[in-house]
Amino acid sequence: RPPAAPPRARAEIDLAALRANVRTLRAKAPGAAFMAVVKADGYGHGAFPCARAAVEAGATWVGTATPEEALALRARGGLPADIRIMCWLWTPGGPWREAVEAGIDVSLSGTWALREAVEGARAAGRPARVQLKADTGLGRGGCQPADWPELVAGALRAESDGLVRITGLWSHFACADEPGHPSVAAQLARFHEMVGHAEAQGVRPEVRHIANSPAMLTLPEAHFDLVRPGVAMYGLSPSPEVGTSADLGLRPVMTLTTPLALVKHVPGGHGVSYGHHYVTPGDTTLGLVPLGYADGVPRHASGTGPVLVGGKWRTAAGRIAMDQFVVDLGGDEPRPGDEAVLFGPGDRGEPTAEDWAQAAGTIGYEIVTRIGARVPRVYV
Ligand code: PLP
Repeated sequence: RPPAAPPRARAEIDLAALRANVRTLRAKAPGAAFMAVVKADGYGHGAFPCARAAVEAGATWVGTATPEEALALRARGGLPADIRIMCWLWTPGGPWREAVEAGIDVSLSGTWALREAVEGARAAGRPARVQLKADTGLGRGGCQPADWPELVAGALRAESDGLVRITGLWSHFACADEPGHPSVAAQLARFHEMVGHAEAQGVRPEVRHIANSPAMLTLPEAHFDLVRPGVAMYGLSPSPEVGTSADLGLRPVMTLTTPLALVKHVPGGHGVSYGHHYVTPGDTTLGLVPLGYADGVPRHASGTGPVLVGGKWRTAAGRIAMDQFVVDLGGDEPRPGDEAVLFGPGDRGEPTAEDWAQAAGTIGYEIVTRIGARVPRVYV
């Protein structure tokens, strides 16, 4: 029998916390269906385990960005057959036929996409479930208001030909994470207009939706028939303006922890890591953390990223390298193998992903999503 693997860097994923977050969020939008957004491998937490846990807590839809992500979830099996999957980031020549065959709801932002969805439906021999996406002001994906009547008319013709079923009308906010930003009300008004136009032409969608996490948390009038939170489901706040995780009653789902790979004494005046941007102020102990930017630890947090070791916050000393970085333990005497916690829910005194976001000048979304494939996810 091989010896037990030594403990090593891992991302613990607390699925009970995810389920609790979904229940907390559902209680804030009781009239709306819940789409669990699991794109980018569930924001780094694992798409399938998170989708299944969200479904256990009442989600009836699962959302991904790419069709490949949606198809992988269907192919994996294990989600109840009546759980709907939607994906929205299509490029010409995408797997339309496969998506139609798998019963995936596909988003259309323009008439080119409608044409390809119709071809996919013909090839599959069944109608495509399509959701028309309006650009109500985000200025990214979605159909511009000027082009909307043509898209709606084309989709209605394809529907009457039995080639598509228009299941949804939807959009996405630009600034919902800044409550009170004037664009939020403007987008909501534009969404009402564009939905109103489509419905006046005869579209009968199952769902109309626009709310990501910040909109669902701060703007009940944006809930419509379905809410589409991602980051809040993973227990992170969308922005400090919306509140902290704790304010929102959410529990961060990912804990990133590792044993120290090495502990050693060095004299004062010793340069640390590439570029010697940190020089030990006196005799001290250095601890080696076996995680680096290849694992998603942001290099921008060199000199600022916090780590809990032996009950104290230490800071990434010098440059964060590809696979490792150093913390100055200030003369403490931990041993190799002692635990270093980069982030977690915060209730053991450890930093949170939001602390790392601040240290790196980014957002919590990016911290968890970039944790690399070399770090095993351990479901607890
Ligand atoms: N809907 C769409 C179209 C998205 O792209 C995203 C993610 O950015 C979400 C919903 C979920 O957003 P959030 O993680 O802010 O809840």
